[in-house]
Amino acid sequence: MIPRIRFAHLPTLVEAMPRLSAALGGPQLLVKRDDQTGLAFGGNKTRKLEFLLAEAQAQSARTLITAGAVQSNHCRQTAAAAARFGFECLLVLTGEEPTSPSGNMLLDRLFGAQIVWAGEAGREGTLQQVFRHAQEAGQRPYLIPYGGSSPSGAAAYAYALQELIEQGVRPDWIIFATSSGGTQAGLVAGARCFGFQGHILGISIDEPAPVLRERVAELARRTADLIGENASFSADDILVNADYLGGGYGVMGSGEQEALHLFARQEGLLLDPVYTGRAAAGLIDLVRQGFFSPNEMVLFWHTGGGPALFADRYREMLLR
Ligand SMILES: *Cc1c(COP(=O)(O)O)cnc(C)c1O
Repeated sequence: MIPRIRFAHLPTLVEAMPRLSAALGGPQLLVKRDDQTGLAFGGNKTRKLEFLLAEAQAQSARTLITAGAVQSNHCRQTAAAAARFGFECLLVLTGEEPTSPSGNMLLDRLFGAQIVWAGEAGREGTLQQVFRHAQEAGQRPYLIPYGGSSPSGAAAYAYALQELIEQGVRPDWIIFATSSGGTQAGLVAGARCFGFQGHILGISIDEPAPVLRERVAELARRTADLIGENASFSADDILVNADYLGGGYGVMGSGEQEALHLFARQEGLLLDPVYTGRAAAGLIDLVRQGFFSPNEMVLFWHTGGGPALFADRYREMLLR
């Protein structure tokens, strides 16, 4: 067994979205509610952190260090988990300190995380520097990679797929937002290890498809290895659609706007402007293109992100 601290609210519910299906004239649509994983407004990083914090504890770490964008959901959930289990938390965020903290970043502060601003260019360099400095200062740091996408973080999503199977839900398609690739690698590894036949299609948020397919294949192999299965994956095994990158990471466009409105007004469900809004925009477009056949079952795996709805920069777009 891989070390794990159990604090996520699991299993997350699977719900039908009949009004959205009808509005789109599409296949049967379901949603898996990983926006409700129970830690500080939830999200997919909470599952990963169950394994990452166990690893940090096993190494007698005292400080969690990770990095992300200003509105990083990963950083917010890491800061909350650190507080809950008595770690210090150091976050390296891209850019300059905003004049008024909002959304996820405001919550980072509330959880007592220390924030280091990396400017526009050197986030990776700053992260390494912060880590070395913490080591030298005797803070016993544990480095969590971007998005928590190490093999142990990704393993959480192999077990999440097992959880879905145990819920008796066997969709033809699983659709979700993919970025650092850990969620997809875990799902793909879980499908192989636990026997799932459906298609697992990631909608890319910010990376070209070939880059993600290579990355996910390699991470899926290492993840399967960690959970005790010798399995190999090639880029050809990994389904990624990068048609919805729009104006780039974090830029909300008309696709995200429509998706947020549709989910809110047909199902009373909240998406976020950066990840799930973009993935849902892809799902909606694929339904309209007739990509799915009418008798298929399509599951949208909701990965969270809600607090970004309260980031100052999206207010205008949300109200239009
Ligand atoms: C991090 C994140 C993702 C992407 O997950 P990866 O495992 O990094 O690919 C998707 N949705 C939300 C809301 C996220 O915060």
